[in-house]
Amino acid sequence: MALVVQKYGGSSVADADGVKRVAQRIVATKKAGNDVVVVVSAMGDTTDDLIDMAKQVSPLPPGRELDMLLTAGERISMALLAMAIANLGHEARSFTGSQAGVITDGSHGKAKIIDVTPGRIRTALDEGSICIVAGFQGVSQGTKDITTLGRGGSDTTAVALAAALDADVCEIYSDVDGVFTADPRIVPAARKIPKISYEEMLEMAASGAKILHLRCVEYARRYNIPIHVRSSFSQKEGTWVVDSSEIEGQDDMEQAIISGVAHDRSEAKITVVGVPDKPGEAAAIFTVLSEAEINIDMIVQNVSAASTGRTDISFTLPSTDGQSALTALNKLKERIGFESLRYDDRIGKVSLIGAGMRSHPGVTATLFGAIADAGVNIEMISTSEIRISVVVAQDDIDTAVAAAHHAFDLDAEQVEAVVYGGTGR
Ligand code: ASP
Ligand code: MG
Repeated sequence: MALVVQKYGGSSVADADGVKRVAQRIVATKKAGNDVVVVVSAMGDTTDDLIDMAKQVSPLPPGRELDMLLTAGERISMALLAMAIANLGHEARSFTGSQAGVITDGSHGKAKIIDVTPGRIRTALDEGSICIVAGFQGVSQGTKDITTLGRGGSDTTAVALAAALDADVCEIYSDVDGVFTADPRIVPAARKIPKISYEEMLEMAASGAKILHLRCVEYARRYNIPIHVRSSFSQKEGTWVVDSSEIEGQDDMEQAIISGVAHDRSEAKITVVGVPDKPGEAAAIFTVLSEAEINIDMIVQNVSAASTGRTDISFTLPSTDGQSALTALNKLKERIGFESLRYDDRIGKVSLIGAGMRSHPGVTATLFGAIADAGVNIEMISTSEIRISVVVAQDDIDTAVAAAHHAFDLDAEQVEAVVYGGTGR
């Protein structure tokens, strides 16, 4: 008998029919002889709707209350799902994150899981029950307040529970058949990736692929939990996210060099113009930003023009942090001594990911050539051992993604990607 943790995203339980369909799938897993723990997200766009409502009553809702509000979304779906399962003649019990033992730090809206103590889940399983757990939420160890893990956090709840319960597999169900070589909404010829390593999946998630929450992949890698990403709308085998040692042909020249192309529309670019070219300037700028708790992604410093002794520093950051970054920097304008700030949120990032690029020279040249041939200008570049990212104008993202996908022969001969839902999650 296996212990299976399943996570269903919002589009899988968007309405009553969806809830009933998912209930049947869960019961089938139970009937096949497994213990089943289910993590569920809020129905459809509930979380967005709740955020909109909060903004209507307050422009800046207190984090504690916003978390209290948002966790209600998952409580609705967990209770409905447990009812639908009961209606099929099986016992199901729903639990909030707090009841399930998901203990977090106190950082509202982006809490980190620090411990999982699933005693009540264990007991319910031992009593033959199916357990339904509200995703994306926990309870703060210090304040005992309810917290949320950040948008898309139910994936992380699922993997954290799988690790704490020593589950055999964690299945993540959404509205696409798995992880694709690019977003099928942009590249219809994208292919499903049968198996991908944790490290490549980490780079994909960090580069904007929304199919899995970044922290969920970090967790899965740390505890070596195999993740099976698949659709709740089909019975097809999805994508397995596993340790690289479990991927055949890892050192084989035959192996695909590139796993996929990811893109991210959520970043903006700030250029600090005319920074005096002397020691300590970059430190001052990025200290200000870190004190404002802003995560910086790419950084480029141009060579100073000898005549002016000044340089420009550009960096990207989540566009939601754009305003606070500009405010923080402007406050220190005199002390840092830069001339002006430029802000551009009409940009996007396109990333090529593949463990094979370690041993294949020329990947960068092929990528840049393909992007140039497509008539797209590259504004910034950054690389890791298994990733190359470029910043381009927002209107050029789709073109650049398609060009990169094509240049590395990732296009499928026949369209295999089906998008079942509508919301993208
Ligand atoms: N309902 C939350 C969200 O929409 C959490 C999740 O779906 O994982 O972000
Ligand atoms: Mg959601």
